[in-house]
Amino acid sequence: MRVYVVHYSEIALKGKNRSYFERKLVSNIKEKIKKGEKPRIRREYGRIVVESGSFEIGEILKKTPGVRYFALAIKTEPDIDGIIKAAVDLAPDSGTFRVETKRSFKEFPLNSMEVNRIVGEEILKRKNLKVNLKNPEKTVYIEISDRNAYIYSERVDGVGGLPVGVSGRVACLLSGGIDSPVSAFMAMKRGAEAILIHFFNSTLHSPGVRRKIHDIARKLSEYHRLKLYMVPFRDIQLEIVRCIPSDYRMIIYRRSMMRMAGMIAERENAKALFTGDNLGQVASQTLANMKVIYNASDYPVFTPLIGFDKEEIVDLAKKIGTYGISILPYDDCCSLMVSRHPVTNASIEEVERMEEVCDLREKEAVESAEIFEYG
Ligand code: ATP
Ligand code: MG
Repeated sequence: MRVYVVHYSEIALKGKNRSYFERKLVSNIKEKIKKGEKPRIRREYGRIVVESGSFEIGEILKKTPGVRYFALAIKTEPDIDGIIKAAVDLAPDSGTFRVETKRSFKEFPLNSMEVNRIVGEEILKRKNLKVNLKNPEKTVYIEISDRNAYIYSERVDGVGGLPVGVSGRVACLLSGGIDSPVSAFMAMKRGAEAILIHFFNSTLHSPGVRRKIHDIARKLSEYHRLKLYMVPFRDIQLEIVRCIPSDYRMIIYRRSMMRMAGMIAERENAKALFTGDNLGQVASQTLANMKVIYNASDYPVFTPLIGFDKEEIVDLAKKIGTYGISILPYDDCCSLMVSRHPVTNASIEEVERMEEVCDLREKEAVESAEIFEYG
């Protein structure tokens, strides 16, 4: 019988939390298997076993944070004859190979080295192969638990990270650009459930932009289910244009977004904000301006892309599947009526003084947000 054997990252290191993390990963995988068959999924001696060989489940495992790698394996009784038979079936017909055994059930009568040797010899008897321990073309993997043995030869990489949910919840500010979807992905990858927030200007934004934000949210939800808040930003922007000089507007737009994201975080019990900021890319991202912008938030603001070059962010965006959506043209609402030379060293005091004369009605905007669920 073919099953998926799933290995997780770091979870094994987390001591007391281990069982909680494993159960979370199992329930996340179960939740993503929506249609058709409902295979049995269980924890078994430091791995997760999904009793199915279906293609769709492989696709789900590739995109489930917490999965380090997985393999489609032959499941047999934990006895050496069954293991040999499966290993011979899986071994290539020519070239070089090695056998790598992991015996997590210590009462199995042979140790890992002995299994490697015995199975390797049996394969050599039946196939025209050479052993190469250092750099084989194929590895035949054998895992032995108390109830079963699993034999496979192809490992598929997963996302790594931690199961979504174990780190709590965060609010991710999502623009239509390349960076913020990657930042939201990083949050999910580290086990945080993501609440996406987009601030949109209905006059500026063509229907295409709305669709674009929805498409990004849907793509990200392939990793884990999420919520999207669409917060109307038009009236706030018009008020800012009315009362703030053009070289300060962008900073005030962003501060206003921070405050509203904080309101949503409170409502959703999120513990931090995530942005796609990246040091020094644009005027809003000088350290002085980031200080002023983040100061508007009562929550810690995390920006996981801070140390990356643009090329590295683009590579990640391609890998997670958001790049193709992000590069579709759109009007960035932060560029509405802003000076071509925004200030690069604003101070908190002067910005607060400017905001005092504005009537931004941020609470109203948050209350009239549309909420969508994906995944
Ligand atoms: P991105 O590629 O994510 O747009 P960027 O490098 O173009 O990032 P900015 O456009 O200045 O930088 O935005 C910086 C960050 O501010 C974004 O990554 C995002 O987290 C947040 N942000 C900007 N505009 C919006 C918006 N309309 N709605 C929600 N968040 C926004
Ligand atoms: Mg942008």
